[in-house]
Amino acid sequence: MSSLQNLINNWSQYRKGIEEGGFHHYEHRWGMAIDLNACIGCNACSTACYAENNLAVVGPERFAKGHFMHWMRVERYWDQPEKEFPEQGASFLPMMCQQCGAAPCEPVCPVVATYHTPDGLNAQVYNRCIGSRYCNNNCPYRVRYFNFWSYYESSWPEPLNMQLNPDLTVRDKGVMEKCTFCVQRIRTAKDKAKMENRKVKDGEFTTACAQACPTNAIHFGDLMDPESQVTKLWATHQVSRVDEQGRPRHEQDKQNPELRGYRVLEELNTDPSVMYLERVRETLA
Ligand code: SF4
Repeated sequence: MSSLQNLINNWSQYRKGIEEGGFHHYEHRWGMAIDLNACIGCNACSTACYAENNLAVVGPERFAKGHFMHWMRVERYWDQPEKEFPEQGASFLPMMCQQCGAAPCEPVCPVVATYHTPDGLNAQVYNRCIGSRYCNNNCPYRVRYFNFWSYYESSWPEPLNMQLNPDLTVRDKGVMEKCTFCVQRIRTAKDKAKMENRKVKDGEFTTACAQACPTNAIHFGDLMDPESQVTKLWATHQVSRVDEQGRPRHEQDKQNPELRGYRVLEELNTDPSVMYLERVRETLA
């Protein structure tokens, strides 16, 4: 085993919950199941994320220079790229921070601006971040975004500034940002439950992307709650993507079409909190 492999394996084991033989006691573990069979690539999730999280519009000139700020992107793939539209058969995959259990971005931050919360989130402390971007380099999903500009000066001229969400900040030049699973909604729901001396109920709140999705492709909830919908989806669909030799499997289980849950780059032992339910492809006889 290479030293890199050793590091990846041990870091992953360290981060696992006590239930899985690791060291962490998770109060909640927020997670998602995204059904790619239901996703129609409309980008409503991405748009809702912009509105909820005060995301700056980067604009075409800066985008062309490689500056991005979309916490959630909808990736498009062609099933048969050699054919002409519309016969190519498009597939869509909403991609955002996977809130990894063993996040590779966390141990490389020199100032601990990115860290793991007791409810399994990969959190970002904006006013601690010094913009080293090591986290960005170490994220295999490319879902962390650096503020190259003080976007707020041009993104929300009056009266657009009136639409900013007061439940969270706008970020300034020089810091990293990324999807938080709408942490402001999580905190509000937890505070309300605490005031009422009860636990957060499944379905009591959800993320902006899941709320906006017209086809209900995104399911959000607590993976520590055995009765939550997301836990049940994980239990029903999860399939090992690694074969007996530890090599990644890329093919859907043709014998059992219900087993179509996979996590992106699972073979890196990042322990993502997002499970995708693979699209069921019809084959013509
Ligand atoms: S809103 Fe739903 S259907 Fe539209 S792109 Fe996002 S996940 Fe897919």
